[in-house]
Amino acid sequence: MKIISEVKDAKKIAIGGHVRPDGDCVCSVMALYRYLQKELPETQIDVYLEKPAAVFDCIQDIDKICSDFQTDQVYDVFFALDSNDERLGDALSIYQKAGRRINIDHHISNTGCGDLNIIEPQRSSTAELLYDLMDPEKVDEEIAKAVYLGIAHDTGVFRYSNTSPHTMEMAAKLLRFGFDFSALLEHTFYEKTYVQTQIMGRAVLESVRFMNDRCIVSMVSRRMMDFYQVNTKDLDGIVNQLQVVSGVDCAIFMYEIGTLQYKVSMRSNGKVNVADVAVKFGGGGHVRAAGCTMNGTYHDNINNLSREIAGQMKRAEQKERA
Ligand code: 5GP
Ligand code: MN
Repeated sequence: MKIISEVKDAKKIAIGGHVRPDGDCVCSVMALYRYLQKELPETQIDVYLEKPAAVFDCIQDIDKICSDFQTDQVYDVFFALDSNDERLGDALSIYQKAGRRINIDHHISNTGCGDLNIIEPQRSSTAELLYDLMDPEKVDEEIAKAVYLGIAHDTGVFRYSNTSPHTMEMAAKLLRFGFDFSALLEHTFYEKTYVQTQIMGRAVLESVRFMNDRCIVSMVSRRMMDFYQVNTKDLDGIVNQLQVVSGVDCAIFMYEIGTLQYKVSMRSNGKVNVADVAVKFGGGGHVRAAGCTMNGTYHDNINNLSREIAGQMKRAEQKERA
């Protein structure tokens, strides 16, 4: 399937992604936006997404994103990228009203929520999947840059196990456009503000290991966020920092989003399927990186997650022994 054949008769197209959009989500949405704009200059194309982190200001037309979801517009086609319908947030009603819904995603927990579903969990990122749906002749430097960054963010800069030979071949093609990939990665992925570094340090300092040191957990409360004057976008990367502790099979990071409500991020080194754990609590994601929202005290949430993780570890060990 090529994207254009699906939408060439549409007069109005909307593109959206998940709440708290990450690099892959932001970049996929923007790559598709530019691609469709170039290909269909007569068509109205709108992007609905929560405001991306400031580092993505380097992506062309990022200021065209509409983060106000109150609209009477009814679209002929809505592309939901990197998300299922449950994670579209306030864009859900726009999605539901659209004439045709196209869902493009790489999350294993997404069973497909569109009239057309292109869900490929073996893909490193939605950006990688999307690029293969584009006509390479029509891709320009700005699209290439967005696709490259989407892939880079979801693979931890080509490091995680979701990085395939195909991912690298695609990255090589994209680099030929000549953009300054090194500066872009530095700016959007590695660079942190001073307070981001401080709160990461605090979270690491206060982390606790359990289950014979095979799990590690830490939490950032609302009070801590207020103290350091940070918001939830400033907490990216903390769970990854916990994951690299040697001997750890599973890292958990939570931050408070409301009274007795936490956003949970999990990372695994392969032994624990954190997507399965997250799905048990209404979330989702990938085998090695997943998340969910949990209600209850911090300690109750750890207990509930631990039970699932311990069950998985036990089953994995039984399998190994058999
Ligand atoms: P992170 O921990 O970086 O927020 O998310 C890790 C992965 O899990 C990402 O692919 C993200 O899209 C997915 N994820 C995180 N939270 C949720 C959630 O609440 N529901 C679903 N379905 N996926 C999630
Ligand atoms: Mn995502």
